[in-house]
Amino acid sequence: MADYETVEHDVLVVGAGGAGLRAAIEASAAGVSVGIVCKSLLGKAHTVMAEGGIAAALANVDERDNWKVHFADTMRGGQYVNNWRMAELHAKEAPDRVRELEAWGAVFDRTTDGRILQRNFGGHKYPRLAHVGDRTGLEMIRTLQDHGVHRGISVHMEHTVLTLLKDGNRIAGVFGYDRERGRFKIFRAKAVILSTGGIGRAYKITSNSWEYTGDGHALAYHAGAELIDMEFVQFHPTGMVWPPSVCGILVTEGVRGEGGILLNKEGKRFMFSEIPDNYRAQTADNEEEGWRYTQGDKNARRPPELLTRDHVARCIVREIKAGRGSPHGGVLLDISWIKQKLPSAAEHIKRKLPSMYHQFKQLADIDITREPMEVGPTTHYVMGGVRVDSDTQMSGVPGLFAAGECAAGINGANRLGGNSLSDLLVFGKRAGEFAARYARENKLGTVNSDHIDRAAREALEPFDRALGGTGGNPYSVQHDLQEMMQDLVGIVRREDEMLRALEGLDKLWKRARQVGVPGNREYNPGWHTALSLSNLLTVSEAVTRCALERKESRGAQFRDDYPNKDDAFGKVNIIARKGPDGSMQIRRDPIPAMPPELKQVIEEMK
Ligand SMILES: Cc1cc2nc3c(=O)[nH]c(=O)nc-3n(C[C@H](O)[C@H](O)[C@H](O)COP(=O)(O)OP(=O)(O)OC[C@H]3O[C@@H](n4cnc5c(N)ncnc54)[C@H](O)[C@@H]3O)c2cc1C
Repeated sequence: MADYETVEHDVLVVGAGGAGLRAAIEASAAGVSVGIVCKSLLGKAHTVMAEGGIAAALANVDERDNWKVHFADTMRGGQYVNNWRMAELHAKEAPDRVRELEAWGAVFDRTTDGRILQRNFGGHKYPRLAHVGDRTGLEMIRTLQDHGVHRGISVHMEHTVLTLLKDGNRIAGVFGYDRERGRFKIFRAKAVILSTGGIGRAYKITSNSWEYTGDGHALAYHAGAELIDMEFVQFHPTGMVWPPSVCGILVTEGVRGEGGILLNKEGKRFMFSEIPDNYRAQTADNEEEGWRYTQGDKNARRPPELLTRDHVARCIVREIKAGRGSPHGGVLLDISWIKQKLPSAAEHIKRKLPSMYHQFKQLADIDITREPMEVGPTTHYVMGGVRVDSDTQMSGVPGLFAAGECAAGINGANRLGGNSLSDLLVFGKRAGEFAARYARENKLGTVNSDHIDRAAREALEPFDRALGGTGGNPYSVQHDLQEMMQDLVGIVRREDEMLRALEGLDKLWKRARQVGVPGNREYNPGWHTALSLSNLLTVSEAVTRCALERKESRGAQFRDDYPNKDDAFGKVNIIARKGPDGSMQIRRDPIPAMPPELKQVIEEMK
């Protein structure tokens, strides 16, 4: 084996978003040595982009809220295929995690009597999102980062992990490269926590940044862990649609939480025309009641704009397909109308939604205090991910843990807004705690030099092909994959289209193995793109195969050829696993029975 630089930690965390930082803090507090690796600079993870807030039943704004209501909301939103134990732990522990963040210095917006302010969000019965204007993620990352750095965690910035190293069945570390110099590095560790975020870059229109190429999902899958629920990809209803250069950038649900309404080109508030049965009793049946809800009237029910994301996104697609869309292929989201209700509406909007105000002013020359925004669905989040134990977050590979967006279970078929940031805190903490325990109970594993040499050789092949003049362009493979996933495995799915996608993936795999990259190893974005292709292709294949297997419509998965829910599929999760021959194997696993006391909670909250 070549003489690669080697670093050792008890616990290595891959990913420096909310989940990774929270895990690193907890592991370090348990007294083990902790390293954290991330692709970009510390503080630049996806979490920093989070806008609307952190869901936790603090009951600061509505005293009727408690963990039971939050649990029932999460299960209803996830259409009951969630891991109920994770949903329970999340609902019970989120308030403490938010208070802890406050104790570490996070400056939340305040109620008039000085408590953490909470806002309305889709699918949450009561105002539940602790927030800092519409820049909550920034405050969360800043706080966790400061706290983590002061704990003495070692940070390896601008490093990409290429493969996980195993000693027999258990984890022994990771192998990756430093993006700036292009040099390989071995990280040996007793336990590894994956917290690499989502897969949004597998799609053309997305709110996700360049980093979200499904690395953790693919790393875990190739190391023998199972992926679960991969068919459930969340298309957030409101992304920017114009101008083309900003298409997909998120427009926070907070706009609707503050009273924003959705209109078609005829000026009709179309969300009132289709309210799902399981939300009818909780949803306003007139505009006045909806407005009162957004202003904190406890006797009012939520406006239909605040139904779950899957439903709102589909209603928007319906309007666009029926020719009632906005000029650039979206619908209209109007917050400016609240001037009819509030005398100082413009100041109110700028104070509550400062980022949205600047985003539209600077990127689209739209003043949202005066005119509506044009919005349409954008790929936002993946509910599916690494299958983990609900309490410890350990995957099926001993010593390999996962937390945050790259793990799965809590959200089922659809995530409620705000439940990701709280998931990062609750399960990041748990992953850190149990990874530290695992590290204390186990020795460092031995790394396999053949595996490392092979990974290094394969990573350098694109340079050889460019020299030989035979390699294809990695960007064109990425582009064609994104177009194909958007068109064939997008918001509305059909079997014939997804079978075509599988054929397309086969061809793209072949092209990906032939890409060439000119230049050298020092900060070479073409090379980085080439190396991310196998992750993107792995997760795209998992999404497609799982979506084919789930022959029903539920939450984020809408099948045109199976438009209804099927009770039989309500009892199973879809699992993807690498078979002995290297092919992806799909199976259905029964969801364990929910204990009677949790069933009762759901009944009580209906
Ligand atoms: C615009 C926007 C707004 C949002 N608003 C909200 C909100 O208000 N409330 C809410 O609950 N959720 C929100 N979400 C969702 C939420 O922000 C994400 O789900 C969450 O931040 C993911 O956190 P994470 O810790 O799992 O991963 P991330 O924050 O995505 O961090 C992933 C980390 O992994 C690293 N990484 C990835 N691959 C590798 C690799 N191969 N090697 C080394 N490092 C790697 C990255 O560099 C990064 O440091 C929003 C998302 C977006 C895009």
